[in-house]
Amino acid sequence: MHSVLSPHRPPSVDRLLGWPALAPLLLEYGRQPVLAAVRGLLDDLRGRLAAGEEIGDPFAESRIAAGLAERLARSEAPRLRRVFNLTGTVLHTNLGRAPLPEEAVAALTLAAREPCALEYDLASGARGDRDSLVEGWIKDLTGAQAATVVNNNAAAVFLLLNTLALRKEVLVSRGELVEIGGAFRVPDIMSRAGARLKEVGTTNRTHARDFAEAIGPRTGLVMKVHTSNYAIQGFTAAVPERELAGLAHDRGLPLVVDLGSGTLVDLAPYGLPHEPTPQETLANGADLVTFSGDKLLGGPQAGILAGRADLIARIKKNPLKRALRLGKLTLAALEAVLRLYRDPERLAERLPTLRLLTRPAAEIAALTTSLLPALAQALADWPVTVDTAPVQSQIGSGSLPVDRLPSQALVIRPNGRRGGLLRDLETALRQLPIPIIGRTADGALWLDLRCLEDPETFRGQLAILAHRAVPA
Ligand SMILES: *Cc1c(COP(=O)(O)O)cnc(C)c1O
Repeated sequence: MHSVLSPHRPPSVDRLLGWPALAPLLLEYGRQPVLAAVRGLLDDLRGRLAAGEEIGDPFAESRIAAGLAERLARSEAPRLRRVFNLTGTVLHTNLGRAPLPEEAVAALTLAAREPCALEYDLASGARGDRDSLVEGWIKDLTGAQAATVVNNNAAAVFLLLNTLALRKEVLVSRGELVEIGGAFRVPDIMSRAGARLKEVGTTNRTHARDFAEAIGPRTGLVMKVHTSNYAIQGFTAAVPERELAGLAHDRGLPLVVDLGSGTLVDLAPYGLPHEPTPQETLANGADLVTFSGDKLLGGPQAGILAGRADLIARIKKNPLKRALRLGKLTLAALEAVLRLYRDPERLAERLPTLRLLTRPAAEIAALTTSLLPALAQALADWPVTVDTAPVQSQIGSGSLPVDRLPSQALVIRPNGRRGGLLRDLETALRQLPIPIIGRTADGALWLDLRCLEDPETFRGQLAILAHRAVPA
């Protein structure tokens, strides 16, 4: 008996790891990942040979090294990647919402790297409260008596309901029973928080008398929810905040308002549509407001609660506050963003969200014109026509849903009817080192350049596109 050696017998893993061509990979990725990649690659090659595939010298050193480099680049790459958001939606929830200002990046980097007085009162040397890092700024900016912060606005709403309305009824107009991005639905949050939703009025019209009649011995709160991502138009009626507050207070109940986005400055002077601010809402008599840190505010993901000191104190005593509290990186970034609001005159230059929202259409148009030749050249082999066209950007994240901002896009349109070409094009753009995310509409791919602040990097990548094979 003798065994027949396969003409393509793989080297032992140990020997293979000693090959000079693998040394740079071992240095870059470490032994464990390279070992896993070697096993995967060898399995793969054995399978292909067993299936009868002809591979000339499958276990040659250079071939193995190249195969491993490709595998490792894929498997060991960070999962969180930078992208170009050219969707035309400035605050894109799936793309991370607000980009942070440099001041916030510096603050969170410092907090990440060094010990910091997170819950430590430097004046007295006693234990401190992490909320105090931002509470003063929020009070100054909103006029609230007190404030606290949690993981996001959904958590803020949840915590306030669980604290102030456990096993009690919460009155909400039927016109405000919103769903935001699928997972946040007012009725669901309400029941999970242990509160009972009592719907008031109708979808399009709710009157003060509807609230007055709905208030009973089990009522714990009157709540108003900003209808962030839709608008009810036509024959409508809602109870003005001031009147609703008076009505609630007459019956000894607090009025709480979920502002959703919330913005700490009046947006009208920046040429943007007016959005209710916490300061206005509190001045109208609301006892508590909640809003997001990473929507129009332009900061990190956070939920802010501001209002009456006694209510904030009760909320802070809820054990769930500990479960929903902010980490030091977020607190550092949030404080830095709030500090920028102290100087509203320079806000539009320093806060990226506001800078992008107020970017002049003419500036965006000049940018599309300057990049058009490079994109057209990169796509010269594709059966497409590249052009520029006016578009309307949107703010996003349920902020001001019906308002649009005039902008300009690079438009890539397939020549003739070619099913699948748009998809191939989108894929090619997503496979770039910094993936480019556009929007398909009307049979074309639109790259709204409102949020492109790094055109040189964008342009530099286009060469890679030009070297890619055009799908048949
Ligand atoms: C966006 C929004 C929320 C949820 O806020 P997150 O910060 O995303 O958790 C809640 N309520 C309203 C009205 C919103 O617009």
